Amino acid sequence: MDLIPVTIDGQRIEVPEGTSVLEAAELIGIDIPRLCHDPVLGAVGTCRLCVVEIDGMRNLRASCTTKVTPEMVVRTGTPRVQESRRTVLELLLSDHPADCLTCEKMGSCKLAEYAYAYGVRKGAFAGAEHHYELDDSNPFIVRDMNKCILCGKCVRACQEVTGKNVLGFAFKGFDTKATPFGDTSYLESDCIFCGNCVAVCPTGALTEKGMQGQGRTWEMEKVRTTCSFCGVGCTVDLNVKDGRVVGVTSTDGTVNDRAMCVKGRFGWDYINSPKRLTKPLIKRDGRFEEASWDEALYFVASRLGEIRQRYGSQAFGALSSARTTNETNYLVQKFARGVMGTNSVDHCART
Ligand code: SF4
Ligand code: SF4
Ligand code: SF4
Repeated sequence: MDLIPVTIDGQRIEVPEGTSVLEAAELIGIDIPRLCHDPVLGAVGTCRLCVVEIDGMRNLRASCTTKVTPEMVVRTGTPRVQESRRTVLELLLSDHPADCLTCEKMGSCKLAEYAYAYGVRKGAFAGAEHHYELDDSNPFIVRDMNKCILCGKCVRACQEVTGKNVLGFAFKGFDTKATPFGDTSYLESDCIFCGNCVAVCPTGALTEKGMQGQGRTWEMEKVRTTCSFCGVGCTVDLNVKDGRVVGVTSTDGTVNDRAMCVKGRFGWDYINSPKRLTKPLIKRDGRFEEASWDEALYFVASRLGEIRQRYGSQAFGALSSARTTNETNYLVQKFARGVMGTNSVDHCART
């Protein structure tokens, strides 16, 4: 692959053909601000926050959609660039609620982060503001369209990551809205509640319902682990506060990037359930009693042996689970065939 020489903020670098200016800058540690760009989504260059100056070009260019060309000279932080970014942020804040104090996104909001970095406050431009009703009609996702900056990441995530196409842009001009077809609620749409739109939303427009009021981002310890719902094994971050899991978020650069399904992202509340079994129980005289693992395993093994001896191998069948690995499922069928002597083996994921 041809390498293209470019100079960014005085640093010379060679990057593969097809690299965007934003990606090239990242390679030398220059972090260009962006709201609509995401490495796993197609670049659209709509937010205009990532603009840069390029020698020989009259207008500022969106660095996420501009590919490097040989001997390109780029400047990412000139006064003109900074002023343009400030204006973009001022325009966004002109139709944005001053709600940071109680917003669930505070601490991980890209809009708040850039407003702080560029010293931008609400009030530079006065005009009409939206007053949408909060949509919390479904069990998993809260939508506050007053905080939407129309970056379109949710639309692209639903289309490109989930493959569902539930979302699009409805209406025009000031009334443009990122919403399901027909401007319905998520509940009335074809949404499968994977939450991949929530994972990419840079503001508090889309947030996890189960995490509302549970604590601030910086109060949560992120414990990286593997989702236990199926054998795919998505990497997830358990959000732990005061020793309790209060939510699950997904993270970049793992096998699944931030993509997950509804079970892994929103089905975590069983972890804190008082009904959850944490020790083996053996039923004696009609009542379950706690037992040690040795005791429980010995009990199961002896009862299976008795059943096989008394009723024959065909009295036994093994039902395995999608929540275990292929290796575990292999062992289950091996046990059924090799030890119990039956081919009666099935799996909960078979339809
Ligand atoms: S979305 Fe961001 S900027 Fe808007 S209220 Fe929430 S934290 Fe503040
Ligand atoms: S939750 Fe999933 S299916 Fe529903 S709108 Fe978001 S990305 Fe699309
Ligand atoms: S809901 Fe979030 S991701 Fe979707 S367009 Fe609005 S700000 Fe962007």
